[in-house]
Amino acid sequence: MQNLAINGGPKAVKSLGPSQPKVGIEEILELLDLWHISPEAKRKIEETLQVEKGNKAPHLFRYYGTTPSKVRQLEEEFARLMDVPYALGVNSCTSALIAALVACGVGPGCEVIVPGYTFFASAAAVVVAKAIPVIAEVDDSLTLDPNDFENKITDRTKAVVPVHMRGMCCDMDAIMEIANKYNLKVIEDVAQACGGSFKGKRLGTFGDAGCFSLDFYKIITSGEGGLIITRDEWIYIRAQSYHDTAACWRPDRFGRERMPGELFAGENYRMSELQGAVALAQLRRLDALLTKMRSNKNRIKAGIHKINGLEFRKAPDAEGDTAICLVMYLPDVETTKKAIKAMQAEGVPAGGIYDATVRDWHIYSNWEHILEKKTATNDGCPYSCPYYEGSLPTYSVDMCPHTLDLLSRSVHIDISPDYTPQECDAIVEGINKVVQAYLGSPSTKN
Ligand SMILES: *Cc1c(COP(=O)(O)O)cnc(C)c1O
Repeated sequence: MQNLAINGGPKAVKSLGPSQPKVGIEEILELLDLWHISPEAKRKIEETLQVEKGNKAPHLFRYYGTTPSKVRQLEEEFARLMDVPYALGVNSCTSALIAALVACGVGPGCEVIVPGYTFFASAAAVVVAKAIPVIAEVDDSLTLDPNDFENKITDRTKAVVPVHMRGMCCDMDAIMEIANKYNLKVIEDVAQACGGSFKGKRLGTFGDAGCFSLDFYKIITSGEGGLIITRDEWIYIRAQSYHDTAACWRPDRFGRERMPGELFAGENYRMSELQGAVALAQLRRLDALLTKMRSNKNRIKAGIHKINGLEFRKAPDAEGDTAICLVMYLPDVETTKKAIKAMQAEGVPAGGIYDATVRDWHIYSNWEHILEKKTATNDGCPYSCPYYEGSLPTYSVDMCPHTLDLLSRSVHIDISPDYTPQECDAIVEGINKVVQAYLGSPSTKN
């Protein structure tokens, strides 16, 4: 007993030596490979970094680090840009949607309305949140049709996910009016329209929450990543809990629940500092990218001849369009397919959006996971959920015929921020050549 250190005896462990940094300059050098830095430059960088070797090792976890967290900085700058009080970095937009749905109280027994044209994740998130997705038509803007949204509302509808698809804002006046009338939660999917706006207000700030993607194919990227924004502290607290295994950050992390719904088990959707750092640099480029794309799109759109049979995608607010693409509708599927091939032959970055013979996860008719109510386990939850009262929506490949018709007649032109004015003009020439050949000469159409 006297021998115990606690009673004044000698300590068994005198001291532990310094631990090696968990992350050193080797990791930076590995990153340089991703940037394709030449071996020569890499050697120079390594020499420089060796001098810094005694420096503090990076803390790649967003919490507990002593340096200002890059993820925290990203959240602060994103919230400032969006003019909202709360932003939360997560590891994808799919995670953002699930966490936002759960934070808004979506769960067993609820229906959530999503458009039939969006990346599958918008609908999958609803199923993961244990609710029933209800698929609605898009209108000429290729975003949620407010009329069909209203038609699809039942007494089980809890929320709607308007998707600002292919860079274009939804008609948020119409959608918010209907959502308010029926007391629905609005979770905006801004994965493809980061930075866009509607009537001067940034997308993602109209509803209860806005969800963004930082996947590599989006406007700005950290390889993978996502963000949730909201004005509502309660939604922020719940989303934050859900995204961090319910580690229960609140004013008092270890405090007892103040209100029902504050403490519950969550997932791990945390963003790493590596993603945070890359996303921060990307965010600072966002508005300049939008300016360039908008200028290129305006130049191309203005140059295209007005011809009977050619209609542009409707813009609920043309100024708020992120301008990542230009979509035109042609009169029928055959002409559309031929025109796309001919434009591609001209070197125009044109493509179709929907072809019934091609699988594509952006169109509901291919979502057999939903159409056939497929689930991860045999019990069929959420479709078999006892909390769900009423008859399930009937899903079918042709349940949104207007959506399929529009998409099958769409010609999609990629707009890059890097096109020069000359390249824009060449694209215009290519489009005009083809359109005139297939639809006739310019009319006096206005
Ligand atoms: C990409 C995308 C998502 C999913 O984003 P991830 O970050 O890949 O999870 C959700 N909705 C839309 C409309 C998308 O385009």
